[in-house]
Amino acid sequence: MAQRTFSIIKPDAVRKGFTAAILADIERAGFQIVAIKKQSISKEQAQGFYAVHAGKPFFEGLCAFMSSGPLVLMVLEKENAIADLRRVMGATNPANAEEGTIRKKYAESIGQNAIHGSDAEETAAFETGYWFAGYELI
Ligand code: ATP
Ligand code: MG
Repeated sequence: MAQRTFSIIKPDAVRKGFTAAILADIERAGFQIVAIKKQSISKEQAQGFYAVHAGKPFFEGLCAFMSSGPLVLMVLEKENAIADLRRVMGATNPANAEEGTIRKKYAESIGQNAIHGSDAEETAAFETGYWFAGYELI
């Protein structure tokens, strides 16, 4: 059965002009784009989104980075979407990412790593609801 996941093309990749290339990789991997929007977010919105990481040493920098410029918010669908997107993204630290993955190709550091993808069904549901209204997901 088709599954949905939530993803963000992060500000570093948008700034460098990698949006279309990343979308092409995602579509080539078999994902349907259910919903997509480009916008800037506030530091407070980033803090709410990444609340599970509050208190970690990289939290402040992560939220400052995510609010540093426009990003692309997406809901994606395919069989096994959550795990498959994580595979297509590659490791959190691009230095450890496999050849051909989005982070290997487009990311420069663990802090600025081009793309986000939900890591479980519960986080996908929270993250999708955080950024999209129900009527945007038809
Ligand atoms: P994401 O949630 O963005 O998809 P992830 O699930 O691979 O990435 P998480 O552990 O959820 O990784 O961390 C969230 C984000 O916080 C990472 O994408 C990364 O940008 C940043 N981050 C994580 N660990 C570190 C670290 N040690 N130093 C700097 N930034 C970090
Ligand atoms: Mg994560």
